[in-house]
Amino acid sequence: MTMKFQIEALEELAALDAKLRDLTDRFTQDQKTLNDKKAAARSLEDRLTRGRQSLGEMEKARGDLVGELRQMSIQVERSREKLARCRTEREANAAQREVEELRKLYRDREIELEKLDGLIQQGRGEFDQVTEQHGAVSGDLGSSESDSISRIATSEEELARKQAERELLVQKIKPDLYRRYEMIRKRKGTALAWTRDGTCSACHIRLQPMLFQKLLRADEFGQCPSCNRILYYRPAAQPDGTQPEAEGQSESP
Ligand SMILES: [Zn+2]
Repeated sequence: MTMKFQIEALEELAALDAKLRDLTDRFTQDQKTLNDKKAAARSLEDRLTRGRQSLGEMEKARGDLVGELRQMSIQVERSREKLARCRTEREANAAQREVEELRKLYRDREIELEKLDGLIQQGRGEFDQVTEQHGAVSGDLGSSESDSISRIATSEEELARKQAERELLVQKIKPDLYRRYEMIRKRKGTALAWTRDGTCSACHIRLQPMLFQKLLRADEFGQCPSCNRILYYRPAAQPDGTQPEAEGQSESP
């Protein structure tokens, strides 16, 4: 395994890893977007269920209250009749008190009913709002869900294909070099850097002349003293004008 061969394999691997990272990011983002939409629809559905239940309870309470009021108005009427039939002043006073007490109770129930009507109105307004929101969210979900699912499936397939490609590529790289690459990649995101004029392509620090000379000899990889990435010397642009970075992009499927 020559140095040139190892450099080419590592460059290819670095390009592939960059693509894998983009793919994974897109895949994760697509999945998150879809899950977020689904969660939003579900939470609105929950709110609708709760709203329906609470409106039902309030309507029932209202019905009970209206029934109670009807009963009380009959009672008030009876007390009034009783008052009209009174013979003595004492009887009249007692009947009058009863009428007043009943009226007060009646009035209290009426206030309760007004409050309840206000709450029901507010509840219905909120319910309508949530219904509208839910319609918008589930409409959006309905029109985009199948697209999202197929995009996620495509990304998943592409990820699996690239992973397989990667496994083949890794076999071309010396195990200890690959271990080093992986260790740095997991810490830094990327593991490979090169130099042409004595600076590190990743962190741009100026390398010590001794290190640069060693890299120029191209018989082993170096390590950037600042970012710790694997370093090698990369000659200037190739005769056909392509930069070596572009190599990784041109592999056939
Ligand atoms: Zn560096």
